[in-house]
Amino acid sequence: MKFGFDIDDTLINLRAHAFSLYNQKLGKNIPQEVFQALQRVEIHEPFGLTETEGATMWNHSMEEIYFTDCPSFEGALETLQLLAQQGHEIYYITSRPKQYCARTKAWMVAQGFPIKDNHFFCGMQDTEKVEIIQKLALDVYVDDKPAVLETLGNVASKVILKNQSYNQQVDLPRLNHWNDFLKIIRVNK
Ligand SMILES: [Mg+2]
Repeated sequence: MKFGFDIDDTLINLRAHAFSLYNQKLGKNIPQEVFQALQRVEIHEPFGLTETEGATMWNHSMEEIYFTDCPSFEGALETLQLLAQQGHEIYYITSRPKQYCARTKAWMVAQGFPIKDNHFFCGMQDTEKVEIIQKLALDVYVDDKPAVLETLGNVASKVILKNQSYNQQVDLPRLNHWNDFLKIIRVNK
């Protein structure tokens, strides 16, 4: 089968990592419970930043957020390694900015994610992911972001939602823990 995965907040816990970096950089100690209750993708509000300040903070911190020690979600790496061992095709589709694509691929390889040549797509807009998903004729695609998921209503792929506080309103098969992934694709296929 052909599987496609978003990276940030689907395979790796990027926002939580960024939240902890923000705490360090801003000299704050805002607890994880506040992070876990956020109803939007952006994380700046609990730090008292305006939209503009939040965007600036994110853009200036991106390098550090992306290429330090962001952990993957428990079970994500093992699940993808297992799929690769079983001979499935694994594609990555991330809308990280173009200038970070080569290093992102190298970073993912360094974490142990199985990445074959031509299986890594990066630098598109959220709304452009759908074209790649259709062109690749993926059997399964996993993402966390409502803005992406709402463009995928007509794709033939089975779309699975990685559970996050900000996507509770989205009605799709929901992946709460990566250890459940194989069960979900078998049961709901
Ligand atoms: Mg994502």
